[in-house]
Amino acid sequence: MKSKSNYEADLHCHTTASDGSLSPEETVRLAKEKGLRALAITDHDTIEGWGKAEKASAQLGIVLLKGIEINTDWEGHEIHILGYGMKEHDPVFLNELRVIQKKRISRIEQMLEKLEQFGIRISFEEVMDFAHGESIGRPHVAQAMLRKGFAATTKEAFHHYLRIGAPAYVPRYKLSPSEAIHMIRQAGGVTVLAHPGAYKVETHLEEWIKAGLQGIEVFHPKHTFQDNIHYGMIAERMGLIATGGSDFHGPQTKPEVELGGWGVGMDVVIQIASKIIT
Ligand SMILES: [Zn+2]
Ligand SMILES: [Zn+2]
Repeated sequence: MKSKSNYEADLHCHTTASDGSLSPEETVRLAKEKGLRALAITDHDTIEGWGKAEKASAQLGIVLLKGIEINTDWEGHEIHILGYGMKEHDPVFLNELRVIQKKRISRIEQMLEKLEQFGIRISFEEVMDFAHGESIGRPHVAQAMLRKGFAATTKEAFHHYLRIGAPAYVPRYKLSPSEAIHMIRQAGGVTVLAHPGAYKVETHLEEWIKAGLQGIEVFHPKHTFQDNIHYGMIAERMGLIATGGSDFHGPQTKPEVELGGWGVGMDVVIQIASKIIT
């Protein structure tokens, strides 16, 4: 018997559509077992999991918020922006996702070209073997290097070739936080700054609120109790929706984080839903 969640809703989780280890259906089923009434699927830079999650949630009678988590760059800080309820056929939104995906692939190709200069020949397909779903990245390049005997450990592959500053490193394409906010808002979605305690850049909140930010993730496994109070007060003061979620990645990827281990009440789900433009 799985332990029940203390919350009604978990608004942050990843599935096999990005870097999670459970499928969208399995994630929804687990949410039901945990007693959650609502769940948001927020895979990195993709909405691939939405269809399957929607079917499963309709069958099990659980409210699904269709979400996304966009990795952005703000002056060298990686800032994550969560979006909820975007129109899935919005052409601008879909096009931006395609651009992100294309750039992710061309980045890998550029890294493989650089590796070749060191006599390390790996094909794109060999890297793809390690990338389940869409989020192809440096860890998969490292695993392919390992398999072909070009490195003894992934750590070594990163250290000699793939880390920032190493000879095969290629920077990732990223939107700015304001661009990601715009992309989500113009598709009718609601925008939330993810786990602000992880980067402490709230000095720029006003700028992002001006750009259209509507919420801030207050409850998250990376946050301390003090963070919860701090960001809860900021939400109150700045009129932002105070959200929360587990950032669940599945038992294989992050076993210490349970689905529903962090979350909010249905009142927050209603606040978000009331701001989605359909
Ligand atoms: Zn994140
Ligand atoms: Zn996340």
